Amino acid sequence: MGSFLLLFLFASAPAASPKVLLISGQNNHDWERTTPMLQSILESTGRFEVTVSLTPARGSDVAAWDAWRPDFSAYNVVLLDYNGEMWPEIVRDDFEAFVAGGGAVLVQHASNNPFAGWEAYERMVGLLWRRADAGYSAYMDSAGTLVRVAPGEGHGAGHGSLHDWQIMTQDAEHPVMKGLPSIWAHPFDELYHSQRGPAEEMHVLATAWSNPEHGGTGKHELVVWWIPFGEGKVLTLLPGHLWAGQEDDRAWRCAGFQTLVQRGVEWLATGNVAMSVPEDFPAANTFSIRDW
Ligand code: ZN
Repeated sequence: MGSFLLLFLFASAPAASPKVLLISGQNNHDWERTTPMLQSILESTGRFEVTVSLTPARGSDVAAWDAWRPDFSAYNVVLLDYNGEMWPEIVRDDFEAFVAGGGAVLVQHASNNPFAGWEAYERMVGLLWRRADAGYSAYMDSAGTLVRVAPGEGHGAGHGSLHDWQIMTQDAEHPVMKGLPSIWAHPFDELYHSQRGPAEEMHVLATAWSNPEHGGTGKHELVVWWIPFGEGKVLTLLPGHLWAGQEDDRAWRCAGFQTLVQRGVEWLATGNVAMSVPEDFPAANTFSIRDW
């Protein structure tokens, strides 16, 4: 009987999948669509176990916030799809301790907007949606050198109109980028520019040229980067805009975008990327749009 039980346990025990805590609940973007999309993009790989935690709604009282106390330490990766009110101090402390102790975070699109004045968060993300005087901005020059712009110089955070752009690899040896084309087409998305912050220890994985014809800067803006924080790491992924009511969700159905989310989370969780590059990955001038 005992050996049968043992056999059963061995036969049925799956390799432990990394656990992802996806935090959402307030955003000026359509989190009610993007959060299930992120969950589906990750779970479709069969590699991750995703749990969604929703913050209280905007304007909720203290009791509602007191009842929201995510246990970050039970997860490998925290994925932020959140642009809303400041978290309670105790949750911020838990979050900082999680990352400093070796936890990992993926900051998705407008999740670099909130938490002005939360010093540790701004240090983790490096470049955020802030005014020009709130910190450095950074871009990549044509020689591939990271250029920092001093606080107060140049523009504050912004973006041009939704349009098609190309994503360029800046670190081809990084596990997230390895094997991807050096440049690929990404449809109808918002390209942030002149983000501001401490911008320290930036490891830039990808950039995109910001086209002045669409309200951009004419510079190679950073779109994917990571920053160490204590023993942990924080990866910021700026593509992935979707307003409420916006019908065109090709940026989210882009095979390249979905691949970045999947590989980014795998790298954050395991330190490596075992997933192969999908056959439908976009090329320099060819989009690859998936159905849901
Ligand atoms: Zn947006």
